[in-house]
Amino acid sequence: MITLVTTSLENEMDLVLAHRKSIHVAGKLGLTIATQTTFSTAVSEISRTVIEHTDTGVLSIGLESSGQRYALKATITCDSAAEFNSYDTGFYYAQKLVPEFSLTEERNNKLIMIRIGLPRSLKLDPVKVRLMANYFKESAPLNAYEEIKFRNSTLNRITEEQEEELRRSKLIDERKTEFISIASHEIKTPITIIKAYTQIAKSLCARESDELRTILGKVDFQTSKLLTLVQQLLDVSKLENGSLQYSPERLEMNEFVTEAVEVIQHILPKNRVYVEPCESAWVQVDRLRMEQVLSNILTNAAKYSAEDTLIEVNCNRLPSGHIQISVRDHGIGMSAASMKSIFDKFYRAQDVVHSHSGLGMGLYVASKIVTDHGGRIWVESAEGTGSVFYVELPCE
Ligand code: ADP
Repeated sequence: MITLVTTSLENEMDLVLAHRKSIHVAGKLGLTIATQTTFSTAVSEISRTVIEHTDTGVLSIGLESSGQRYALKATITCDSAAEFNSYDTGFYYAQKLVPEFSLTEERNNKLIMIRIGLPRSLKLDPVKVRLMANYFKESAPLNAYEEIKFRNSTLNRITEEQEEELRRSKLIDERKTEFISIASHEIKTPITIIKAYTQIAKSLCARESDELRTILGKVDFQTSKLLTLVQQLLDVSKLENGSLQYSPERLEMNEFVTEAVEVIQHILPKNRVYVEPCESAWVQVDRLRMEQVLSNILTNAAKYSAEDTLIEVNCNRLPSGHIQISVRDHGIGMSAASMKSIFDKFYRAQDVVHSHSGLGMGLYVASKIVTDHGGRIWVESAEGTGSVFYVELPCE
């Protein structure tokens, strides 16, 4: 069938629309007033019966050709759960009005069809039929209700498309996170083994060759860097799927900071790190995760400063009951725009992209760890002068 008009059948207003549409088509075909009335009454009868039982009906009116002849046809498809049969009053009247009526069921749909043959005098041919189809496609809504219905269906379609798009991008995002997590795990194992062998080799050849020991030291340093990057990737994927977990313990913060800095100082031999403790302050934190925060801020302080410059770590007990740890460097600093974005995932300032290695994940993970501990993290900085990172945590 070449469909000319179509409408969903949900309520009484659609009944009016079905009637007007069938008159419109029959009139445009040039049928007599009597035939127009007969056809549109039959369409109204079958539409009414369907609307009484279900709101899933869809009416289509069009032309069907068989050889040289054309027939005017109306079909309604609806959910097969609708309980009616061909003896229902509306269908009974329709059968009296038009020569062909059928009610069939296939798969999950019921299909009602009425058809009347058209006289040759209408001189229908494929070109005329196509023109007619275009005419109906472009014709204006028959009433305000149809216009609202049309807008509604357009809105529904757009909403469905957007929901589908969102579903797809969420799926891609989930797969990406899963891939990063698996890939990081796979990469981490061989790196850890290489690092262990390097350390064994370093201790075995300590007295044999200075040159070899230096080379192994470099391999060890680069392996540590690689491990940190892989660990950051793993943490990001854990953050994405909400599986970052903490094991809090009671720590005295000054002691913790001093010890952690001592350990970190070994991987930052080119900068001096000075710690200024404060009065004792007890906190509940995950030791390893908090070390990770300090390590990230301190390695950044060294990475974005010249060699031999001082890095100052200060602990401060605040009247608010918090402890504030600040890390001050005298490095390249950053712009106001960067200050706003450095805690965002994958953010790296333009001026460091080509000059310093990194993935822009460290501060994103660090800020999540600090906020998960009920604290806050921020930066004060000026380009060319240096930066101060602050971490504030609630004390017992
Ligand atoms: P990475 O250092 O791997 O790029 P981070 O998340 O640790 O990632 O830092 C994000 C960005 O913040 C860095 O790329 C850099 O632009 C800026 N940044 C961080 N720490 C400093 C610092 N101490 N001085 C200047 N810029 C910094």
